[in-house]
Amino acid sequence: MLIPCFACESRFGPDEYFGACSDYNRGLDLVSWTCPRCGNRDDLRVLPGELGFGYRHRGRFAVHARVRVPGLRRHRGDLRLDILLDRASWRVSASLHQRPAAR
Ligand SMILES: [Zn+2]
Repeated sequence: MLIPCFACESRFGPDEYFGACSDYNRGLDLVSWTCPRCGNRDDLRVLPGELGFGYRHRGRFAVHARVRVPGLRRHRGDLRLDILLDRASWRVSASLHQRPAAR
């Protein structure tokens, strides 16, 4: 399973890819991803079985492209998102300027 960067078309294994996620935004339910090769920054939403890519628009996040990642799961916490795939997991902390989460 390889996941592409939309900017430079490099492909990454899950460990390298999810290790490059940062700044979980609980309100918009997305994480930032910075390409280890080209430095491109993308917003993406981790969904069951897939990743959703898109952009922020009027305070929401609109998904426009999806990449299937079979077996992908997630656990949302107040200050973090845990991404789970097979037996591995990656923890993405919430970005500091957004806490506490609005309710
Ligand atoms: Zn790239």
